[in-house]
Amino acid sequence: MGSGQVTSSVPSGPSEFQGKHVTVAGLGVSGLPAAKALHARGAIVTAVNDGDDARAREQAAELEALGITVRLGDGATLPEGTELIVTAPGWQPGKPLFRAAEEAGVPVWGDVELAWRLRGPDAAPWLAVTGTNGKTTTVQMLASILKAAGLRTAAVGNIGVSLLDAVLGDEQYDVLAVELSSYQLHWAPSLRAHSGAVLNLAPDHLDWHGSMDAYAADKGRIYEGNKVACVYNVADPRTEDLVREADVEEGCRAVGFTLQAPAVSQLGVVDGILVDRAFVENRQKNAQELAEVSDVDPPAPHNIANALAAAALARSYGVPAQAVRDGLRAFKPDAHRIAHVADVDGVAYVDDSKATNTHAAEASLAAYEPIVWIAGGLAKGAEFDELVANSAKRLRGVVLIGADRALIREALARHAPEVPVVDLDRTDTGAMLQAVTEAKRLAQQGDTVLLAPACASMDMFTNYNQRGDAFAAAVRELGA
Ligand code: ADP
Repeated sequence: MGSGQVTSSVPSGPSEFQGKHVTVAGLGVSGLPAAKALHARGAIVTAVNDGDDARAREQAAELEALGITVRLGDGATLPEGTELIVTAPGWQPGKPLFRAAEEAGVPVWGDVELAWRLRGPDAAPWLAVTGTNGKTTTVQMLASILKAAGLRTAAVGNIGVSLLDAVLGDEQYDVLAVELSSYQLHWAPSLRAHSGAVLNLAPDHLDWHGSMDAYAADKGRIYEGNKVACVYNVADPRTEDLVREADVEEGCRAVGFTLQAPAVSQLGVVDGILVDRAFVENRQKNAQELAEVSDVDPPAPHNIANALAAAALARSYGVPAQAVRDGLRAFKPDAHRIAHVADVDGVAYVDDSKATNTHAAEASLAAYEPIVWIAGGLAKGAEFDELVANSAKRLRGVVLIGADRALIREALARHAPEVPVVDLDRTDTGAMLQAVTEAKRLAQQGDTVLLAPACASMDMFTNYNQRGDAFAAAVRELGA
């Protein structure tokens, strides 16, 4: 980690867009507000979109009414005269449009970069979070802590509230809690957060990034230019490597979080207490008590890690210890993230439908024992050997659902041959009731029946919400 200067060849500031030819790539959640914001600042905007469906036409009509040119069904050709592209974050870097832009020396920004450039001179600093899993939870915990400190803030970014809206809206903020995806970071070359955190790194979205190294490098961009702290996960050394590679402001510190007793410049856990040994006077000798493990809901190990990361970012902004505790106590997790549904006959039923990849599922399996595990769905190219091998000793039994369940069954045969497995040969929505019935049969008093599918849901359900709702409905039906 060294010190660095922020440089950019593209001018920033609202007035700089006057008369500029800007191509907005991709309509939808980020494209529409981006096109409008640029148009309002005098840019000559052309919006291009791959699709030509009813929704795109509706959005096109809205933009055309403002005088913006829209090209539907052609997201590949670079409009003539383009001086800047503002892309939807999901657009893959390998697309012909971007190759053409590179050849023509045209810069490409994502929605986050645009928001960063458009924020005013006295804009609120950003406390930024990325990682393969836990982003939403951590950003919400962070916002809750900042609010408890009396600060005006919001959880924004890859979390349903667009950064552009937060930056351009009328609401005044002291500081923003920002969730950033690896896609958004890829397209945000000049973002410089007050402090940033990478929670963890596991293979995900590799088809988009091309390789694990490229994925990690994009996540690592969150540390570029940090002012106060680069927050990393002590248990995931790759996150610390990314800090080392980052070019940050003079005096910015690397701050680790750990579930163990913290070393100097770390936050960690001692005897059930969350402790800060980074943002305290004389940290060689002193530590500050922040909260109790039981203040975190749910107190599963990975969620304690999320709380520590949120606390580290808040503390880097000068938030007092008391606000960390109050904010964590006030925080309520979103639905389908290790949600305790009910206890039936001494068995706990837990919905972690949001565990849509193996890394997330492994974290939630580590939080209980013994477990009857309901798993399966769309594997998205994942391999299950490590997950199953690491979790085998906790499993009372397994119920498999979904299109790719054979992959998990085979991993179970290799690493947990003694664990009973019920393989449900159906992928209709009603299969969940049968799955819960089978799980109930396998479970004994004191066990946890855990829906942590390690897979996407779209083979059987509209999304992970519907899958979790189906699980909860089945539990209620059985418990009644
Ligand atoms: P994201 O926004 O990154 O998808 P969420 O906070 O929505 O993360 O959590 C998604 C799922 O990831 C949770 O349901 C849980 O299974 C798992 N999870 C949450 N935090 C962590 C963590 N720190 N490490 C591993 N898995 C986690």
